[in-house]
Amino acid sequence: MINNTYNYLLSDLKKLKGVGAKTYNILKKKKINNIFDLLWRLPKSFTDRSESTKIKNLKIGEIQTITLIPYKYNFPRIRNLPNKVYCKDDTGEMECIFFNSYEGYIKKILPLNKEVTVSGKIGQFRNKYQITNPKYVSEDASLIKNKHNKYSLTEGISEKVYNKIINQILTNLPILEEWHNNNIVTKFNNISWNKSIIELHKPENVGKYKSNFYKRLAYDEILSTFLVHSEIRKNIKKIKKQKKVFDLTFQKRIFSKLEFNLTNDQNKSLSEINFDLKSGQKMFRLLQGDVGSGKTIVALCAAANVVKSGFQVALMAPTEILARQHFNLANKIFDKSINLEILSSKTEYSKKKDITKKLKEKKIDIIFSTHSIFQKKIIFNKLGLIIIDEQHKFGVNQRKKLSDKGGDNCDILLMSATPIPRTLTMTIYGDMDLSIIREKPKLRKQVKTYSKPDSKIDEVLKFIQKEIKNENQIFWVCPLIEESKKLDHASAVQKYNFLKKKFPDKVDLLHGKTDTVEKDKILRNFLNQKTKILVSTTIIEVGIDFPNANIIIIENANKFGLSQLHQLRGRVGRGDKQSTCILMFKSSLTENAKKRLNILKSSTDGFKISEEDMKLRGFGDILGFKQSGIKIFKLADPIHHSDLFELAEKEIKYMEKNDIQLNRYKTLMKLYDQADVINDIV
Ligand code: ADP
Ligand code: MG
Repeated sequence: MINNTYNYLLSDLKKLKGVGAKTYNILKKKKINNIFDLLWRLPKSFTDRSESTKIKNLKIGEIQTITLIPYKYNFPRIRNLPNKVYCKDDTGEMECIFFNSYEGYIKKILPLNKEVTVSGKIGQFRNKYQITNPKYVSEDASLIKNKHNKYSLTEGISEKVYNKIINQILTNLPILEEWHNNNIVTKFNNISWNKSIIELHKPENVGKYKSNFYKRLAYDEILSTFLVHSEIRKNIKKIKKQKKVFDLTFQKRIFSKLEFNLTNDQNKSLSEINFDLKSGQKMFRLLQGDVGSGKTIVALCAAANVVKSGFQVALMAPTEILARQHFNLANKIFDKSINLEILSSKTEYSKKKDITKKLKEKKIDIIFSTHSIFQKKIIFNKLGLIIIDEQHKFGVNQRKKLSDKGGDNCDILLMSATPIPRTLTMTIYGDMDLSIIREKPKLRKQVKTYSKPDSKIDEVLKFIQKEIKNENQIFWVCPLIEESKKLDHASAVQKYNFLKKKFPDKVDLLHGKTDTVEKDKILRNFLNQKTKILVSTTIIEVGIDFPNANIIIIENANKFGLSQLHQLRGRVGRGDKQSTCILMFKSSLTENAKKRLNILKSSTDGFKISEEDMKLRGFGDILGFKQSGIKIFKLADPIHHSDLFELAEKEIKYMEKNDIQLNRYKTLMKLYDQADVINDIV
């Protein structure tokens, strides 16, 4: 019977022959929950057992396949002596040796005077060829004389068992109805899903990511991801909300207080946001722009407009320092007609209670806080906009929850300062509308970037000395030691003590454990230029703005990813002075590390840097997406398959425009996106 439903693929692994409790648990631990999941563990290489060899031609040390006849057993029944089976062919003799095997088993697999095919590594003992504990033994030569896949996932599961499981699945693979239209399948030479999977598991096809079967499967994956995004986007758009009503008077008043004009991209993004706010559809938008591109002012204007239309706003930042900076800026550019408040984990209990009460009574218009406000049961009177700053680590599921959070009338604006390659933006943020600030504010000088080994620290100190004389300020970022926050802390303290001796009264230290009051003081002193050097762990990575700080020293720079270094470097060069970034490293650099530092030295374009980062480290690694629960593709690769991403994007746009229904893609989505988000879609 031809199996033509996908149910088989989604069924439990227990259904498979050869999957006992032990194997089942091993697979479960590897997050392989059903048959479909198993399809993506690909062979890494194979052992070729297909050619058979005569005994006289055997080569010691190699894996060989022999068809032979067992003619005598020797079961010594003495501890430590192995059982032996003497075998021959028409050219010579050899032995199969068994340690710890029962006689019954040996007799069963190697019956006397019958032709048997055996494959294994050839050894030699007292001038005789032998195979020890042969695993590949059968009277049916066709079962042995094959290419046997090697999988890297077989920890605790033998290669033989694993192959048996996979072969069983491939034999029972359902023939599914084609979900792509003709136009698409012809691009892959009409290869079906079923056929593609079979090709994928052929040992000789390992690594053929440019072949039709591979591309088809990669495309399946990309399209299904995009389809989910498209559905989420469409569903959010369907939500009717109360339109926000405001004119641009207040926005103009804010502009008049600024020392600069908005860039074209800032203006464009702000109008896109304003348009969404005024519309009857819920906004779900990402504002993407490199560090220092000026997203904050755009967000604050949008917030003010929402307040002017009678709603409250929640602005959340990843750190308290950043929340406070936004709060301070808002205090500066808004007049008294907008009530602002800041809530942090260290806000005193009575104050917290007061804030909660005021939010409920709508006596606070904009609340600034960290992301943690989410979890809290804070009740707003009339929440109209949630702004989340610097958040690239939200997965689709989290974003969807976020969108549900504020209720129908609440618009959502996410901001991300991580320029990423287009293929990734499509993949990661495809569910959102996008505003991009590419152009950086004019007058901004490029940050000069140098690299220096630790041994030349004296040169760096001399340079700093001079800069301090010129009234400049310095960030000193201490090594990031991922394994241990404690070590991060220790090295920052050490550097602080070292620098304090060289520059008395000019150095301060900021780290994860500094408490809010202290932090405030430290930041204020740095902002007022009382201190000149701020030693810190990577805490300054996100968003904080110190216009007078124009030098950043980054220790152990080779340990950071390119995009992260770029982010750190973005902490300087925010004013109009020339700024400098010095990348320090411990000893000699690897070629790859040199290459990476050179990219950073030669470019300040975040989008370009992230492309390079992706090429060097693979897309999963850049920006820590891996830890973030953001979908990682099984086969599709934003570097090798960028054409497929574009193809899928085009297809989705076409479908959206022509209102094409998803029915035909139901199976695709069921199989590829077993995540929560699609439960209410398909
Ligand atoms: P980010 O996009 O990284 O959040 P910010 O919003 O913090 O960047 O802006 C960085 C700095 O640039 C701030 O000091 C801000 O006042 C300034 N800035 C923003 N827009 C402009 C502009 N159009 N012209 C000049 N400076 C600007
Ligand atoms: Mg910012």
